[in-house]
Amino acid sequence: MTLHDDSPSTSAGPFAPDHDFALALDAHDELAPFRHHFVFAEPDLIYLDGNSLGRLPKAAIQRARHAIEEEWGRDLIRSWNRGWWDAPLRVGDAIGELIGAAPGQVIVSDTTSINLYKLALAALSLRPERKHILTDTLNFPSDAYILQGIANLLSPSPLHGQSLGSDPGYTVQYLGSDDGITPNLDQLTTAITDQTALVTLSHVVFKSGYLYDMRAITELAHRKGALVLWDLSHSVGVIPMALDDWQVDFAIGCTYKYLNGGPGSPAFLYVNRRLQDWVTSPIWGWWGQRAPFDFELDYLPAPGIRRFLVGTQPILSLLTLEAALEPIRQAGIERIRRKAICLTEYAAYLTEHLLTPFGFSLASPRDPARRGAHISLRHPEAYRITRALIEEMRLIPDFRAPDNIRLGFAPLYVSFSDVWQAFDRIRTVMLKKRYQAYPHARLTVT
Ligand SMILES: *Cc1c(COP(=O)(O)O)cnc(C)c1O
Repeated sequence: MTLHDDSPSTSAGPFAPDHDFALALDAHDELAPFRHHFVFAEPDLIYLDGNSLGRLPKAAIQRARHAIEEEWGRDLIRSWNRGWWDAPLRVGDAIGELIGAAPGQVIVSDTTSINLYKLALAALSLRPERKHILTDTLNFPSDAYILQGIANLLSPSPLHGQSLGSDPGYTVQYLGSDDGITPNLDQLTTAITDQTALVTLSHVVFKSGYLYDMRAITELAHRKGALVLWDLSHSVGVIPMALDDWQVDFAIGCTYKYLNGGPGSPAFLYVNRRLQDWVTSPIWGWWGQRAPFDFELDYLPAPGIRRFLVGTQPILSLLTLEAALEPIRQAGIERIRRKAICLTEYAAYLTEHLLTPFGFSLASPRDPARRGAHISLRHPEAYRITRALIEEMRLIPDFRAPDNIRLGFAPLYVSFSDVWQAFDRIRTVMLKKRYQAYPHARLTVT
């Protein structure tokens, strides 16, 4: 490999297809000890879905026990003054360190979808004369739904007797993709016009793993007078970034993926300090009020980022998330990124060597510089293959319609041996046609 020659974990040279080679890569992996920070309840289970629900960090168990037994059980409401009330900002600052945001610009609250709603509306309020929101067809559908809902909310409705003729209202526009893997970047320059209020994209695309050049696109949008809002759900914790330096306006992201916050752990949002006094949340709640315990009837927004809070936060989840961030901070994002590149390069190599004869193709960018920490494999039988892998082969990837098997390589706890064994198990399913035993009808969650 020529990439990142400075990295001990990527200095293994060209790959080889045997298991011993994977074991040798593990022997040189400086992040290998971090695996012991996580719970492995079933040692033979290979888990490649940490980009959807991260594994349980051992530190989170201790933290949850303390929070429940001591802080809730014994201290009761006194705990609000002993670290609960400030948790959304404190944990926000810790996440800020991972994304290049100085303190006071990130809070942890609500869900990613709700935070997109709050920040997209805040952004549009800064560009009232512009009516276009630009995203792409590769974005996570919930993000597209939220944007469509906003356009619907802000547009004059025929149901309310207003004429559509003179005012076309807000529209969501989509940058396309020819292959479902990479966006049509050549169209981006013309897609952002003097009518574009907001450009909002997922930094790493949820299906193909395509990684946008956040800095270049932010610059491009700004040159055209538009604001940017990045969704970091699939990049936070695995991709180094510098939101402050790159002058990003807004960002949101999820904490139960690579941040290992646990199911339903609250999301985060970032508002660049230079914009904070000029925007408010569209949802005015008491946690965002200047002096919530004065119980004044009129809303006055809190100074700074706190105005984007709404109401009481899920404190237990917030505290376990805080504990979960510790191993990531210790490992360091740069080292995590180097291992992620090596893992996905290795997976791309094994796809080519072991799986192309069975009709698989890589549905992710071939260039690791344009890829996050997961890859997708395309196969017409992707759904039934995924079922066989989960139910018989002790391998958990996930399925993304219509034909993608998605493999996530959370660098803190996925080993190269895991990757090799995963591909070996996929090959076994194909050799023995074990997927044929499963129905085409889909389960609710895959
Ligand atoms: C995971 C993910 C979400 C999740 O949204 P929730 O509101 O937390 O359920 C949103 N957007 C993207 C891009 C994601 O990857």
